[in-house]
Amino acid sequence: MDLNPKKQQLLKALEGKLPQEVILSKSEDCAPYGGDWTRMTGSPLLVFLPKTTEQVALILKNCNELKIPVIPSGGRTGLSGGAVVTANEVVLSLSRMSKISSVDLLGRTVRVQAGAVTEAVHEHCAKEGLLWPIDLASKGTCEVGGNLSTNAGGVRVIRYGMVRKWVSGLQIVTMNGDVIELNRGLEKNNTGYDLIQLMVGAEGTLAVITEATLKLVRLPQKEKVLFFSLPSLEAIKQLFKKARLAPFEILAFEFFSQSCLKAVEKQLNRRSKLDKPGEFYVLMEIELGLGSEPEDLLEQWLVDVLGADFVIDGMWAQSSTERKEIWGLREGITESIALTHEVRKYDVSVAVSQIVEFITEAERLFLSMNLEADLYLFGHFGDGSPHLNIVRRDTIDHKTFVEHCDRFEKELYLLIKKWGGSASSEHGVGLLKKSWVAMAKTPQEMALVKAIKTAFDPNHLLNPGKIFSL
Ligand SMILES: Cc1cc2nc3c(=O)[nH]c(=O)nc-3n(C[C@H](O)[C@H](O)[C@H](O)COP(=O)(O)OP(=O)(O)OC[C@H]3O[C@@H](n4cnc5c(N)ncnc54)[C@H](O)[C@@H]3O)c2cc1C
Repeated sequence: MDLNPKKQQLLKALEGKLPQEVILSKSEDCAPYGGDWTRMTGSPLLVFLPKTTEQVALILKNCNELKIPVIPSGGRTGLSGGAVVTANEVVLSLSRMSKISSVDLLGRTVRVQAGAVTEAVHEHCAKEGLLWPIDLASKGTCEVGGNLSTNAGGVRVIRYGMVRKWVSGLQIVTMNGDVIELNRGLEKNNTGYDLIQLMVGAEGTLAVITEATLKLVRLPQKEKVLFFSLPSLEAIKQLFKKARLAPFEILAFEFFSQSCLKAVEKQLNRRSKLDKPGEFYVLMEIELGLGSEPEDLLEQWLVDVLGADFVIDGMWAQSSTERKEIWGLREGITESIALTHEVRKYDVSVAVSQIVEFITEAERLFLSMNLEADLYLFGHFGDGSPHLNIVRRDTIDHKTFVEHCDRFEKELYLLIKKWGGSASSEHGVGLLKKSWVAMAKTPQEMALVKAIKTAFDPNHLLNPGKIFSL
């Protein structure tokens, strides 16, 4: 028999008020909700899977009264440990709240529940020729509530920006059970502090998001996917300069190293169609203007670029299947590396114009430290946001790997500070980047951050220990 007194008290307080299927109490049922993609995991006290906002409010209010901490949970694809259980907290999963309302064509918005899966929102809106322009490799599993709470980026930030630009209304529930509507989907509302923007990127530490009004754009009409092999990082920069001056809009400008391609080829059995390999690869997605002339302009641009000495090989996808195949190489990297290896991931950012110099210095630093590990590079070149993946070699065990990574991390953070960058470009802070926050924010900033936390959640029960410690 489970004798945990808090658990018994909470179950008693909620007795007869919630349908049985909303509560998971057996440890084997709760276990999958204890962790995320970081592979860190813990044991939840209980898991709640509410279906309505009223149920969310009831659960939070009772947890608040009993002083039981709560972790909001989405698709658990997070890469910084934001949804990880660390001390037997209650998990509140929004996954069963996944309704998507009909698209408001005039307002170009859609109202969704927080548990709607990102890709399901895309599919729903595509029927109306519209798009919620948040695109990331985890889109088949991550949820809108998680995207908003991490201020997710993804592969189209260069064109559309981060998630925070694409929301105009939120319904939130605070720890004391209050249900609050923020901004009501208004496009214009200049009445002081913007609480929506406080919620975006708060990683579930201020309130639980239950619904959102998402802003939409027209689906790109004439997309093309181009793929290049290149000899060096400097060559990527030259290609990027050419693309910035080209007569088309860049939707994505992604890069990855040869080691990443090899991992995807080996683990997922996908193949590059380029004849000549390179040290690096670039996937570029663009949107042409309408009419027939833009195709000719693109062709001319491509001939010009393929003739330049900084490009080894290149192609342009001729069909939607080929487009998917090329994207499959980029989108399979995180999964391929994680399938067989232990990985420490650094999702960092610097000014776009400095990305090559920064990566070169970070690579030099990594090599100079003689770690028993390999460096896999990929990411969002066009946003100044590379992902540095440190992969353990079989010659060392887990404990030694952690020590090596910790040593590297200290030096890397100093380097990022020197370049005026950020140690979390898009994955959030969660548990993994807390030391960066402590290092990068001034005491005055931290005091304000903590005051905001206390205003929303006076008992400090919502996702405690994430982003910062109180
Ligand atoms: C293969 C792969 C590729 C990825 N690519 C990218 C990428 O390109 N760009 C990028 O930004 N990220 C990327 N990610 C990371 C991840 O997918 C995003 O951070 C995503 O937004 C997390 O959504 P989720 O629903 O899985 O959230 P979770 O992991 O469940 O939670 C993330 C955080 O949000 C909080 N939270 C979740 N739901 C709510 C809610 N309703 N109310 C309040 N708080 C809530 C949690 O407490 C936690 O702190 C990738 C992950 C994988 C596995």
